[in-house]
Amino acid sequence: MNQLEQLWDYQLADVEADNARREMAQSPQRKKLLQLRDLIKEQQNFLQMIDDERAAMLDRLTVLKEVVTMSENQLQQFHDKVTSVPAQSVEDAQNYVEEMQALIDGLNESDREIRRIHQSAEERDRRHREVLLNAVKLKTEFDEQRESYNVEYRERSKKIKELQAIVDAKEKDLDPKLLAKYNHVKEHAVPPMARLVDDRCSGCNMTFPSSVLREIKAGHEVECETCGRMIIL
Ligand SMILES: [Zn+2]
Repeated sequence: MNQLEQLWDYQLADVEADNARREMAQSPQRKKLLQLRDLIKEQQNFLQMIDDERAAMLDRLTVLKEVVTMSENQLQQFHDKVTSVPAQSVEDAQNYVEEMQALIDGLNESDREIRRIHQSAEERDRRHREVLLNAVKLKTEFDEQRESYNVEYRERSKKIKELQAIVDAKEKDLDPKLLAKYNHVKEHAVPPMARLVDDRCSGCNMTFPSSVLREIKAGHEVECETCGRMIIL
């Protein structure tokens, strides 16, 4: 076997090992596992968001309670004032009414906001429970999926190791310069070697000028001008 034939033989093993690696990366079991992992992450983010919202609402409630206490005190003071200094005129009375109305409006507004917060808290707690329940199911599904993928993973890894050992063994007999070229071409054309078929490159189907054909047929190492592959007879 000449060097190019040896390299071709190496490529056969190399392609097989690469295919096994690609199949492993594209395994439906693996994809399912990654999907479940992403879903779990999403859920965790959602629960965190709910916790943050809850903390912000509790802060707001504390503020609102202080506002209510303050308004109640103001109302009490207002009541004392009206009792000790009764209105002397219609204008005085009107002022009192307006002042009281403003205090009551303020209280009502705080009250409405407190109700809204309680309502949204109920809704949030409901969603929180739903997500938690779902999270337990998802975690179980993830664990099962991981277990079954682990079996597949071990089998595939073993196979890849075996195939790679064959590639490594074949590599030992190769001219390092030729192998370096092979790896360089592989960066942009896979597989990096192509047979000459009907005077064409079987990698990209382009024909060769007769001068190049002569080179190839003489067993010299030639690269396809179009796809860059190393051509072998
Ligand atoms: Zn080509």
